[in-house]
Amino acid sequence: MIPAVQRSTGRPIGIALLGSTGSIGESTLRVLKRHPEEFRLVALVTGSNATALAAQVAEWAPEFVGVVNGSETHRWPSGPECLIAAATHPDVEIVVNAVVGAAGLDATLAALRAGKRVALANKESLVMAGPLVAAAAKAGGGELVPIDSEHSAVLQCVAAQACAPSRLILTASGGPFRTWETERIARATIAETLNHPTWRMGSKITVDSATLANKALELIEAHFLFGLPYDALEAVVHPQSIVHAFVEFPDGSMLAQVGYPSMEVPILYALTHPARLVDAGVERFDPVAAGSLTFEPVRRDVFRAFTLGIAAGRAGGTAPAVFNAANEIAVAAFLEGRIAFGGIADLIDRMLMVHDVQPASSVEVVRAADADVRRLALESIT
Ligand code: NDP
Ligand code: MG
Repeated sequence: MIPAVQRSTGRPIGIALLGSTGSIGESTLRVLKRHPEEFRLVALVTGSNATALAAQVAEWAPEFVGVVNGSETHRWPSGPECLIAAATHPDVEIVVNAVVGAAGLDATLAALRAGKRVALANKESLVMAGPLVAAAAKAGGGELVPIDSEHSAVLQCVAAQACAPSRLILTASGGPFRTWETERIARATIAETLNHPTWRMGSKITVDSATLANKALELIEAHFLFGLPYDALEAVVHPQSIVHAFVEFPDGSMLAQVGYPSMEVPILYALTHPARLVDAGVERFDPVAAGSLTFEPVRRDVFRAFTLGIAAGRAGGTAPAVFNAANEIAVAAFLEGRIAFGGIADLIDRMLMVHDVQPASSVEVVRAADADVRRLALESIT
């Protein structure tokens, strides 16, 4: 269970935003813009989009700026170290980790070791190294608060409870292929895959939503965040994306958190938890306008990436890192037109089959498994 913390008052809280040019990064900036008295942007770091970064720097004038894949022509620090410098900056209290993929892991660990709150969008870091992330938080006094909408929903349902939940059900939109036949899905084009019905997000997570790998990543994320066994973690397809999660308590009572799909609500909550701020920028919910809410089972035989991800989560150790690495390589290959949509689950399956699961005893062990799978996966594609 995530402990509540006392929010500091009377002065703006220093924020580092990692992955500022992405979908979550830009949503975070919109949230910060509405609350200048509460938050101060101290550090901005991004991957390679120096043009978008320059515009953000001109607007926000942060103390620290970094671009990981920078070139000589940029005036900012570059290399993966700049993520760590921002994540551990002395004026930063909250690190918003909105980097996509395994590249976010070291910053999550460094920030937690430095005693910061990590507002985590980068679910991949928790999936790869859940026990090590928890150990880093314990060692440094840092705190992990999820941005992912389903996990924010769970946190909001459990935050004021005297008793731990007994079961969680995360909802999934079902993605663009929710009703499609298996053969048609296997041949889906990039454009069809990126056409998500309810959320506008970066391309990697949009593909993960179409394969439902995202929901497996999220169940693993929930396992590590809320400490429940996999038998108590479920996913249900809910095409309207209005209910974000259901939380069951031992007496059979069920709570749910609802709202229109917008990441700005969970982003703000991750910054203020367990407190809340007035936010006039959020569209107020109208249940009549929301209309009918429907729920369906996940088609586990069709969405194999989901089923493989759950199996990896249950296997534990390095298996979730292997699932994540194989998925990242497969998604990139699909987006480059090198494998078919159906090839994503095939590649994940092959990598999980050949990998010898080890206990995730150190970051080095996890990194080695990650690197090994990436090399093997790339070899098997070309
Ligand atoms: P985007 O692809 O839109 O943005 C990714 C960001 O990460 C960009 O700023 C990119 O920089 C940066 N980045 C990429 N590679 C590196 C690297 N090696 N080092 C540092 N920064 C890097 O992704 P999203 O915003 O959609 O997703 C970000 C994370 O949040 C993912 O883990 C995703 O699963 C999670 N998430 C996203 C949701 C959403 O609604 N979008 C919802 C829930 C979770 P640049 O543009 O310069 O390359
Ligand atoms: Mg989510």
